[in-house]
Amino acid sequence: MSNLPYGIVAFYVFVLGLCVGSFLNVAILRGLSGEDIVFGRSKCPKCNNKLAWYMNIPLVSYLFLKGKCAFCKEHISFQYPLVEFITGISFLGCFLTYGLTLKTLFICIILSLFIMLFVTDIKETVIIDYHAYILAVTAFLYSILKYSQISLFQSVLGAFFGFFFFEVLSFVSKKVIGQRMFGEGDSLIAVGLGALFGVKNLLIVIGLSFLIQCIGAIPLLIVKSFRENKKTLAFSYIIVAFSLIFVFFLNYLKIVKNEFLYLTYVVFIVVLLIWSLKNIVSEINMKKDKLNNENNSNDIESSPFCLLPFGPSLIIASVLCLFFISEIKSFILKTFL
Ligand SMILES: [Zn+2]
Repeated sequence: MSNLPYGIVAFYVFVLGLCVGSFLNVAILRGLSGEDIVFGRSKCPKCNNKLAWYMNIPLVSYLFLKGKCAFCKEHISFQYPLVEFITGISFLGCFLTYGLTLKTLFICIILSLFIMLFVTDIKETVIIDYHAYILAVTAFLYSILKYSQISLFQSVLGAFFGFFFFEVLSFVSKKVIGQRMFGEGDSLIAVGLGALFGVKNLLIVIGLSFLIQCIGAIPLLIVKSFRENKKTLAFSYIIVAFSLIFVFFLNYLKIVKNEFLYLTYVVFIVVLLIWSLKNIVSEINMKKDKLNNENNSNDIESSPFCLLPFGPSLIIASVLCLFFISEIKSFILKTFL
């Protein structure tokens, strides 16, 4: 390999990433439908025609077939080329950062698992157990072989901490409002993430994922409340969002120099925030009563927490922390302390 030009190796790594992405698509699809991953040729999910090899080339076939099945002309989900492309870019990024090393191989495996966990959770709010188990095993190996910043002991501690963090919160919310705050899949992902990051950095991952969840969920909650014609509730969410932005930017940019003015703002925001939270809590109580009456507490849809699955936020936060942990740490110091 060493006598090949760098650019050509990089190109091969990208193509390898595309092929792995193609495999991930199959693993996601068959994982969700419970089919065998390794055996059996790819077929169109609509018309069940088996695909010839030239219809299965990552990215190229999708572009060549203009996103349609060659047999029945059914539109092929954009998920396929997207997963292939993102996997390709991920592999290329790892190679450009760490070179042709075992570390690159490890990070590529971890990112591939992240992609699978992300897609299954977004698509069907499902985490396939063995994806999470493989992530945990890979993370332990990463520590054992000393590619990680943390020791095996810290890795084991992180895995336990991750699991119990989400399980305890879910247990408490189950007792208080009758519903789990997080799915069981989130606890399983957290085992792997704890093993990968250790307790300290896992806390940063979790904090960041809550922030990402807010950025995603609050606009959706606002739109949903307006649609249901609950204007007070919608404004409550807007105020919560505004308060978050306020605390964030004022602290980060240190805009306000005048202490009295600053205090006035803070009092104003706190009063609005209390009013908003009161509205949101009464909405949650209403939903709780409704759930009790209908007696179907398994209905995830009606949970006030489960508007969006939490797994994708965890994965995005993990990717950011995997590559930018020191930048994120200094950002947190600058913003909140
Ligand atoms: Zn077809």
